[in-house]
Amino acid sequence: MQKKDLSLYIHIPFCIRKCGYCDFLSAASTPEERAYYVRVLQKEIRAFEPLYNIYRVKTVFFGGGTPSVLEIRHFSRLMEQIRESFDIDENAEITVECNPGTVNEEKLKCYRTLGINRLSFGLQSADEKELSLLGRIHSFDDFRTNYTLSRRLGFDNINVDLMSGIPTQTIKSWENTLKKTVELAPDHISAYSLIIEENTPFYEKYTEPAGRRLLPDEETEREMYRLTKALLGENGYERYEISNYALAGRECRHNMVYWTMGSYLGMGPGASSYIEGKRFSNPRDMQSYRDYVRVAYSTYKSCEPQSKKASMEEFMFLGLRMSRGVSVSEFERTFGESFKELFGGVTDRLIETNYLSLHEGRLSLTDKGIDVSNRVLANYLLP
Ligand code: SF4
Repeated sequence: MQKKDLSLYIHIPFCIRKCGYCDFLSAASTPEERAYYVRVLQKEIRAFEPLYNIYRVKTVFFGGGTPSVLEIRHFSRLMEQIRESFDIDENAEITVECNPGTVNEEKLKCYRTLGINRLSFGLQSADEKELSLLGRIHSFDDFRTNYTLSRRLGFDNINVDLMSGIPTQTIKSWENTLKKTVELAPDHISAYSLIIEENTPFYEKYTEPAGRRLLPDEETEREMYRLTKALLGENGYERYEISNYALAGRECRHNMVYWTMGSYLGMGPGASSYIEGKRFSNPRDMQSYRDYVRVAYSTYKSCEPQSKKASMEEFMFLGLRMSRGVSVSEFERTFGESFKELFGGVTDRLIETNYLSLHEGRLSLTDKGIDVSNRVLANYLLP
C-alpha cells in the first residue's frame, strides 16, 4: 500500500528569556527540565506507532520557543527517536528554528550530521536599538556570524525571519534591515508585522497613548509592506504567501502543507494537528500535556473530523493567503459543491472592487486585497 504524506511539527517550548512581544508557548528552563521534556516528547512520538506504516514523513519542523536551546545530546536523542519511529522520506525537508544567540559551530555540525537540511534564523531586525527594544538576546553581528558559519558548514537552505511595525521603526531602518539581509542572500525570507498581543509586556506599554505614538501608523506599515515586496522582488525573491518570500524553488514545503490543508501531526504542548480532516490541539500547560501523552493516540482516534462547512472556509482562508490563490475547480472537486452558488456573489463584488483577481480559474488577493486581507477573507465565512 502506498504510504500517505505526513508532516511533523515538534514544539520546543524553551527560550533563554522571554521577548517583550512574545505570546508563544515558551519559557526559560533548566537542563533537567529540558532533559525531562525530551523524554516526554519521545513518549508522544511512540504513542503514534499505529501511524508509522501508514504515512511517510515529507517535512519535519522544529519550532518554538527556541529549538536551538536544546543541548546537542537532547536534540540528537529526539531526532534519533523520530527516525527510529516514523518513515522519514529521504528527501524530507527538516527545519530547525534557531535564535542567532543560541547556536555555535558544534551545534550546527551536529544538525548537519543528524540530517537537518534547513535552518530558520529569527533575526527580526538588523537595527541594534530595535533588537534591544524587542528584548532579543542577539545582535546583528551574532546573526551574521552564525549565518556565515552555517553556509560554510554546507547549509544551502536558510530562512531569515524579519519583523516590521516595531516601535520607533522607520521606513529607512526597515529598508536597511531588508538590504542587510538580502546582502547575505538567504534562500527564504519571512517578513511579518509585529502584532501586539494581550498578556505581554508590549501590550501594557504600547496600548497606552504614549506607547502607541511610537508604533508606525497604518499607512507607514503599508508603505513598509510595499517596500518589502519591491526590494525583495528586485533581488529575486518572489512573494508566494502574504508574508513569505523565496528564491525560485525555495518555498517552505512545511508551511505549504498548512496552507494546502495537507496532513500534519504536531507534538509538544499547544501543538496543533490536522490529519484526515481531524483537527485537534495538545493541552497547553505542561502538567496536562504530560498526562495527555499517555492517551494521545486514542484522543486522535476518537476525534471527529471537522465539518464540511469548516473545511470549505479553511480552504478559502488558507488558500487565499498564497499568491497562487485557490483553484475554483479544485474547490468544487474537493467538496462537491458549486463555488458560484456558495461564494459567487461575494466573489464578483470583490473582483469588481479590485480586492481579488481571477486568472485561469484561480482566485487570488490583489495588492489592494492584501492590505486588508483579514477583512477580505472574512467574506468567506459561511452562514
Ligand atoms: S525567541 Fe521567539 S519564542 Fe522565544 S521569547 Fe523570543 S519571540 Fe518568543
